[in-house]
Amino acid sequence: MLTRFAPSPTGELHLGHAYSAVLAHGAARAANGRFRVRIDDIDGSRSREHYVTASLADLAWLGLDPDGDPVRQSAHLGRYAAALDELRSRGLVYPCFCTRADIAASLAAPHGPSGSIYPGACRHLSGAERDRRLAVEPHAWRLDMARAAALAGELRWEEQGRGMRVADPSAHGDIVLARKDAPASYHLASTLDDAAMGVTHVIRGADLIASTDVHRLLQALLGLPTPVYRHHGLVCGPDGKRLAKRDAAASLASLRDAGVDGPALAADLLAQRLPAGYSLKIP
Ligand code: GLU
Repeated sequence: MLTRFAPSPTGELHLGHAYSAVLAHGAARAANGRFRVRIDDIDGSRSREHYVTASLADLAWLGLDPDGDPVRQSAHLGRYAAALDELRSRGLVYPCFCTRADIAASLAAPHGPSGSIYPGACRHLSGAERDRRLAVEPHAWRLDMARAAALAGELRWEEQGRGMRVADPSAHGDIVLARKDAPASYHLASTLDDAAMGVTHVIRGADLIASTDVHRLLQALLGLPTPVYRHHGLVCGPDGKRLAKRDAAASLASLRDAGVDGPALAADLLAQRLPAGYSLKIP
């Protein structure tokens, strides 16, 4: 068994991250498996090096010892480019020149599980127009969802302890796999890295369960193994809302500064005991 905790270094870790990391670490230790840390740092505009350092310090404070050095997504850009090349050569992705404003302005843009569903303007461009614009315009690469889903057929994954789930990637529409300003989307990078790291159990918050529809499809298209998934409850603050990076009081740094004992907090979280005022919202 191999589990992972994969923070994005775009802010301080809070109790919700600690809960996720503790569950992944605890599951690995209980099964005599391995626990790894991955830094999801390919969003160059939002990732900050000091958050990498701070996140690793928080994990050490909690007493969560990773097996091996942390891996970084920014070291795997070639892996993402190769997968995109493969999908391109099979006609499963197309370049998209639309701006956010173009998409927002489209009356036909309904909402899906990961934001607005792309109305598809660039899906229908001719080969000649694509080539002409590719040479001069910034572009993203989108998955041709209808073709991809038809190719993959029915897809399932095991939600640990809760049986099999049917993936519904089509509900997401033509998702972005590489952005104008980032070499791979979260979906592509995370799916490829989980496979390359040999992750057998993906343990993450229930806010990401819809993403698993897409990850399962990418696994099928790229011939990758499917891990078992556990989407856990979300830690909510005293206001009953799920924690966000802006909730400074729940940040691990402020708990540490307040004299909280890290390993004792980790043991409590593993037993689903939360500090006063916090609760778990089980989906
Ligand atoms: N870096 C992602 C996040 O922090 C990881 C999500 C995942 O565990 O797949 O949301």
